[in-house]
Amino acid sequence: MLSIEHLSKRFGENEVLKDINFQVRPGDVTSIIGASGSGKSTLLRCINLLESATSGKILFHGQNILSDHVNEAKYRAKVGMVFQSFNLFNNHTVLSNCMVGQIKVLKKPKEEAYDAALLYLDKVGMTSHINAKPHQLSGGQKQRVAIARALAMQPEILLFDEPTSALDPEMVGEVLDVMKALAKEGTTMLVVTHEMAFARDVSNHVVYMYDGKIEEEGEPKNLFSRPKSPQLKEFLSRFT
Ligand code: ADP
Ligand code: MG
Repeated sequence: MLSIEHLSKRFGENEVLKDINFQVRPGDVTSIIGASGSGKSTLLRCINLLESATSGKILFHGQNILSDHVNEAKYRAKVGMVFQSFNLFNNHTVLSNCMVGQIKVLKKPKEEAYDAALLYLDKVGMTSHINAKPHQLSGGQKQRVAIARALAMQPEILLFDEPTSALDPEMVGEVLDVMKALAKEGTTMLVVTHEMAFARDVSNHVVYMYDGKIEEEGEPKNLFSRPKSPQLKEFLSRFT
């Protein structure tokens, strides 16, 4: 579905992504792990075109979306994003947050958008809060709404950038449970996370980034029990 080839990104003199190569197949749950500053967010932002890569290719179903003749809006609609800081529209209700993108970007009729919003809000257990504004919700509830909003756009792949890092510890579980359920249903997901249990138990592929490069990648089983790279060994030792 997605193939990243020789992707690099500089901010001025600072090369923050260096020759990144990896692939995502339909149904894959890929976790991206690594220390702060290793380039994880920049990689996700390049993939959803919030940041422009300096060189390399991002192939989506074989088409390079960094080439000139690509309809960026169309591609973006197929790539959902869930941020650490939720990024909900604060002046909209929960329901409206889950409808506006469908109406404005997908040009869906209001009734259809409403039905889809309710369906996905039900999926994340938020139907009893449809008329609330974001400030009336806990962090865990906000993140579940953000996930429903992304799902309502029916993307082909969902990107998550540390979706539980801004949450109080007691709310991490409810968001991870929603993500686990999505993974089980076969949702294609690319997840930047510090939740090593999620990376190990839920994903089928793990990418470890160090200093702008993919230092090691593989099946979680192998990567966690027999890490090869000294940097990865050191990184994992911080979580035990
Ligand atoms: P991570 O998500 O792994 O913590 P980031 O992708 O946020 O890492 O950052 C990687 C590097 O890129 C860091 O050195 C950071 O300072 C730098 N960086 C990120 N965004 C920008 C930006 N907009 N301008 C300049 N440097 C940036
Ligand atoms: Mg980050």
